[in-house]
Amino acid sequence: MSQKYKILGLLGDGIATEIIPEGLKVLEAVEEKCGFEIEIIGPYPVGAKYWIDHNMKQGWPEELTKKTFYEADAVFKGPTGLPDYVGRLPGPYTPINMRTELDLYANIRPCRLRPGVKSVLAGRRPGDIDFIILRENTEQMYVNIGGFMKRGGETELAIDNYVQTKKGVERIIKYGYKLARSGEYKGKSGAPLDGKRRLTCACKWGLTKGDDLFKDTYDKLAPENADIERDATWIDSWSYYALMRPGFYDVVVMPNQYGDIMSDMSGALQGSLGLAGSINAGDKHCFAEATHGSAPDIAGRGISNPTSMILSMGMMLNWLGDKRGDERLKEAWLRIDRAIDTVLANGNVRTPDLGGSNSTKQFGSSVAEAVKKE
Ligand code: NAD
Repeated sequence: MSQKYKILGLLGDGIATEIIPEGLKVLEAVEEKCGFEIEIIGPYPVGAKYWIDHNMKQGWPEELTKKTFYEADAVFKGPTGLPDYVGRLPGPYTPINMRTELDLYANIRPCRLRPGVKSVLAGRRPGDIDFIILRENTEQMYVNIGGFMKRGGETELAIDNYVQTKKGVERIIKYGYKLARSGEYKGKSGAPLDGKRRLTCACKWGLTKGDDLFKDTYDKLAPENADIERDATWIDSWSYYALMRPGFYDVVVMPNQYGDIMSDMSGALQGSLGLAGSINAGDKHCFAEATHGSAPDIAGRGISNPTSMILSMGMMLNWLGDKRGDERLKEAWLRIDRAIDTVLANGNVRTPDLGGSNSTKQFGSSVAEAVKKE
């Protein structure tokens, strides 16, 4: 195969400019090692800072167009947004709203306690926590259907609509069963506690119509997925169980906003948000994006943990490998995953979020070196 894969890169705000170069280092190392070719388009600056620097008129360079997104084989993006500008940015920070326009309905967010890392939960060892939050990514609270009612210049009423559809719910639950079956993106297939492949459905059925549809669809799809153990929990209870018995979980599927919130919590379970990789995956497109935001509290100091971004890029390669039938890309993901474990287990190089004093760059270089040796 001599095809060159076109990967579109988008930078972002805050720590984005620190973690993306480290991800690129690792991509370069794995490209060389696994023998495929990547052409990076950009990476383009996007986001709140770009918008401020451009007289609050444009959030991205003009040469970055809708077409650029459609022509790319995959996309990676750093976190965007600065707290002072939330709600005042030019739409989705790019020429298109990637999650909805590219129909990236599956947000895959692994939570794994890796070697050499301490969870916030006492007494948990590497491998004791190893589940995936599968967040529906195009519906529910973030459909952006709603508005304000203003009287005399005062906002008196704000409405958000909570929308879930048969198509949206069915496809994410099917994806959940598929993920539980394949064991992809996990340290080990099945739940750590009992080894069972399990799909947990976490939502608030009985209280909201959309979540009734979510749970009913989960039940309806059970007979054709009888090889996967079932488990349904109200989302509020799940936030409790996830802390009390994280090892019981394998893949946990949930509607959009719940997944957004719970995956930050899962960052704590795995020792740092800086370890939380993720991809936004659809049937035709995928973009890699760390679970966390732009971390303005530590930005500019070169101490952020680039692992989340590196893992996200690796997961993106795995997605592309599936789509193109290219095993080299799938091997690249496994190599990156192992290299992260090696560097963390070794413990000589650590960023401050993990109790160390190394820089983002030092950590990224160590992973790139480990990728070459794997
Ligand atoms: P955040 O995720 O940026 O930070 C939360 C905490 O986690 C902070 O203490 C931060 O230092 C730490 N942290 C995050 N990433 C880290 C890393 N790689 N290494 C070490 N520590 C890390 O959340 P926030 O402060 O609520 O949000 C900041 C901005 O990011 C906001 O403007 C928000 O809208 C935006 N945001 C963007 C995305 C995205 O682009 N996908 C996601 C979430 C938040």
